[in-house]
Amino acid sequence: MAAFKPENVEDFYEMGEVLGSGHFGQVRQVRERSTGTLWAGKFMKIKKSPCSLLGLDRGGVEREVEILQAVQHTNIVTLRDVFESRAEVVLILELVSGGELFDFIAGKENLLESEAIEFMKQILEALRFMHSKNIVHFDLKPENVMLSDNSSHPVIKLIDFGLAQRLRQGEEYISTSGTPQYIAPEVINSEPLSTAADMCLSGLSPFQGYTDEETLRNILAITYEFDDRVFSTTSSMAKDFIQKLLVKDPRERMTADESLLHPWIKPITRTQATKRNRSSINMKNFKKFNARRKWKMSYNMVWMCNRFVRLKLLCKSSNPDPLQRDCESDAEDTETKPASLLRRRLSSSS
Ligand code: ATP
Repeated sequence: MAAFKPENVEDFYEMGEVLGSGHFGQVRQVRERSTGTLWAGKFMKIKKSPCSLLGLDRGGVEREVEILQAVQHTNIVTLRDVFESRAEVVLILELVSGGELFDFIAGKENLLESEAIEFMKQILEALRFMHSKNIVHFDLKPENVMLSDNSSHPVIKLIDFGLAQRLRQGEEYISTSGTPQYIAPEVINSEPLSTAADMCLSGLSPFQGYTDEETLRNILAITYEFDDRVFSTTSSMAKDFIQKLLVKDPRERMTADESLLHPWIKPITRTQATKRNRSSINMKNFKKFNARRKWKMSYNMVWMCNRFVRLKLLCKSSNPDPLQRDCESDAEDTETKPASLLRRRLSSSS
């Protein structure tokens, strides 16, 4: 079992504003007392007993830490330190202050494909690096692609390695966790997973249905089309790039390595380079998509809270088995820290 620092995190870091919350805790800005440097503290509640409805398995947190330590790359958030108390593990992370990439893009009046490519390249570089170590993120989505700062040339930072896994040779890995709009078909089908699961990506979630069931069905059928209202200004190279990623068979899908060599990312001829500079992203549609995405995120938070309350009631009213009785110890947390309810992995059913 990995040992984290047992000291009180507040002796070393002063607590600041809340930056975000996930399913299993909050992320706050923290100031290092000895240097004044700002960091992000990710506070994760640990399960008190195996049947606890609240919190993460410690093993899962150890895995997140081990993976973050292994993926030191310019385009991936850096882990500085880890503290542990009786009920919580705190990750001290590099402060990523530029917000989400999609919000940055949505704030622009127009965006050339060449500008989008610069961001895409950085995401692919991070994936190439992780995948070369057999590490798969498994939860790539707009919320987890952030920007380093508010400058005019911010750098991509991938965050949230809570579902990430290191795949080992000879071992099969199957998971059904993820976010419906951004999940790969092999995850829905409970098939063995590979690094390819990170590549079946499209920021605009072309598979979006009216319900999650419909979205999952669309992904399984790989049903999408390049609607002219959205893609009229998109270059044919960009469409080809997307088509080579939205492929049902993971073995046929482009890898991060191959994507970086696709002519949309790395043009070979002058004509290819000129074409991508002339094409632009349909901003009206992008802004609409981003607004809808934000609305759905808030809706999911409320849905999860309600679901949690229902589970909690069930746990209390049924089954007097001794293991279940330990669940009662969750009650104090529910009352004192409502934000802690919003924690990962219930998202698999969002
Ligand atoms: P989820 O429920 O989405 O899986 P989680 O519990 O794993 O979330 P994160 O996704 O790591 O938590 O963080 C939650 C939010 O906190 C992020 O969406 C982001 O807004 C903010 N955040 C996380 N890490 C950082 C960071 N290093 N710097 C700034 N903000 C951050």
